[in-house]
Amino acid sequence: MGVAELAAAIAGKKTSSVEAAQHLLARAKQHESLGAYLAVNEEATLAQARAADARLAAGERTPLLGVPVAHKDIFVTRDFATTAGSKMLQGYQSPFDATVVQRLAAQGVVTLGKLNCDEFAMGGSNENSAYAVAHNPWDASRVPGGSSGGTAVAVAARLLPAATGTDTGGSIRQPASFCGVTGIKPTYGRCSRYGMVAFASSLDQAGVMARSAADCAALLSAMAGPDIDRDSTSLDHPAEDYTALLGKPREGATATLPLKGLRIGLPREFFGEGCAPDVIAAVRTALAEYQKLGATLVDVSLPRTELSIPVYYIIAPAEASSNLSRFDGVKFGHRAAQYGDLIDMYKKSRSEGFGPEVQRRIMIGTYVLSHGYYDAYYLKAQQIRRLIAQDFQQAFTQCDLIAGPVAPTVAWTIGEKSNDPVANYLADIFTLPGSLAGLPGMSVPAGFGAGGMPVGLQLLGNHFQEGPLLQAAHAFQQATDWHTRTPTGF
Ligand code: GLN
Repeated sequence: MGVAELAAAIAGKKTSSVEAAQHLLARAKQHESLGAYLAVNEEATLAQARAADARLAAGERTPLLGVPVAHKDIFVTRDFATTAGSKMLQGYQSPFDATVVQRLAAQGVVTLGKLNCDEFAMGGSNENSAYAVAHNPWDASRVPGGSSGGTAVAVAARLLPAATGTDTGGSIRQPASFCGVTGIKPTYGRCSRYGMVAFASSLDQAGVMARSAADCAALLSAMAGPDIDRDSTSLDHPAEDYTALLGKPREGATATLPLKGLRIGLPREFFGEGCAPDVIAAVRTALAEYQKLGATLVDVSLPRTELSIPVYYIIAPAEASSNLSRFDGVKFGHRAAQYGDLIDMYKKSRSEGFGPEVQRRIMIGTYVLSHGYYDAYYLKAQQIRRLIAQDFQQAFTQCDLIAGPVAPTVAWTIGEKSNDPVANYLADIFTLPGSLAGLPGMSVPAGFGAGGMPVGLQLLGNHFQEGPLLQAAHAFQQATDWHTRTPTGF
């Protein structure tokens, strides 16, 4: 069952939160070889489920009461170890819950466990996890995407109704696309970063994956909202009820044309030769459906799309090198068993604790911030980042939403790109621009491409346009059934 269906079943006493949690824990165990989970704690989950059932018995009714979900292992949790997919944090037990986790728990959401991800969310295939290979449920020889790979696997394989993720440069949208599930990354600052293990603080944003836009709306309504006392970049913008919004027709809509008047911009840079023909074909078919629903398609341009790769791969490692300095074996993280002096202790601890991709980014980041290179790389990248954001504002004078592919190809084979960091970085080309501009974005299942693998349609909105994005995705899902397709064997 999806979120809404399961919530209704629990509220209607057809099942209980305990029963649902037990069932989903058993399913997680049965499909352990997918590598979706990094931590479970049955006792803690069942205690939370019993508490939800008690709230229900006491007459409480909230839209998510008793619904079990799991969290990307980037969110710190009191009841479950948090590793961020890194040996550096093996066995780390947080004394508190991340704001996102806490807000969902306040609504009666039950935590099933922690989900696999690339180490410190650095990656786009989940192959940088220090713990487990994650497999795409549509084809176990392929990657699920990343860094929120475990989240996408768990939702796609129906191990749970929904799960949280984080997106710094595409880590919700791309795995959602690769695994055929719906994902939303809100406006930067919309969900609190408090308790999210930091990667690149000016880009990191929490979000959610589920089967449908409606289910994403239900979760996001509970997660989003200001947390200004604990996150200095949290936006002081009131929480919204996205579920209620989906129930209301858009202004100007008719029964047969629910998206009448909606202008969807197609950036010509997203449809060029850098994108595989099977992906373009699926995206174009989805866009034709949008036209049937009343939307009009307009050509727009995001001329600095290509620059988003070098810009992101300067800014994100720069911020990472600073954020990860706290993992020194003293303040946080693994400490080497044997060492000479203090410097040797730092060196050994960090060399043992961090995997190769994280070490690479720390080195790049340290380099671009160093005296003499700061102006040439970091400052330049910040200036181009501003221009990329301006390009979007220019495009949004011609359209309400922007659409295109999420990634240039469908999910690749495990191992195919693992020795080629640049090949991995290039695959982020369509998600990075929106991230650098701080915009909300979605991936909506839109069909299948090469090898029968899922293809997602990316929708991007202007700041705070989560509502219209979800509305556009929801209307599409009312008219199509791509989001209901389930991989064989699940
Ligand atoms: N793939 C990108 C990277 O490797 C994005 C990761 C993310 O969004 N967390 O940095």
